[in-house]
Amino acid sequence: MNIVLLGSPGVGKGTYAKRISKIYNIPHISTGDMFREAIKNKTEIGLKAKGYMDKGELVPDDVTIKTVEERLKKDDCKNGFMLDGFPRTIAQAEALDKIIVIDKVLNFTASDEVIIDRLSGRRVCKSCGAIFHIRNIIPKTEGVCDNCGGELYQRDDDKPESVKKRLDVYREQTEPLIEYYKEKELLADIDANKPIEQVDEIIADVRKALEE
Ligand SMILES: [Zn+2]
Repeated sequence: MNIVLLGSPGVGKGTYAKRISKIYNIPHISTGDMFREAIKNKTEIGLKAKGYMDKGELVPDDVTIKTVEERLKKDDCKNGFMLDGFPRTIAQAEALDKIIVIDKVLNFTASDEVIIDRLSGRRVCKSCGAIFHIRNIIPKTEGVCDNCGGELYQRDDDKPESVKKRLDVYREQTEPLIEYYKEKELLADIDANKPIEQVDEIIADVRKALEE
């Protein structure tokens, strides 16, 4: 099962990916992980990517695509894979189509209200980086990290105004990609508005979409 994951920040993609990965025994491959691995293994592509990243520049498409191609040849992809963070553009999607056949594109969707509510409740530990949530992952003492006693704070990125901006940027970038996969009849919208306690229901919807 060769899957592409789409979904805005805060939609919970990481949580769903973990579950899907277990059910179908396929790896969750994010662009960031891919580059980290290629750099760690000092592959030619990895070193090239590192050059751009060290300069604070975006890794160009041809390098990213080569990295994906290299990663998908690994043994753990023989049952399939989930790509996360790639493709981001039509050009990348077309390049991917030349490398491998995609079976399904899971598009996790949630309303702005739900996402703003989720992200603006997030609190991060200043010392160890642990993540809490004022309703879902409540620290034992308000404002204090359970792990190390550090101070919890709200990242600027998670403030409602910033979240709204991030959502707008995401939509603008991803809209063409959604159309691209819709036309190919690969797109499955998954309603991710449900609270985190109902993640089982979201996973059931994913299985239905993948097994139909
Ligand atoms: Zn901490």
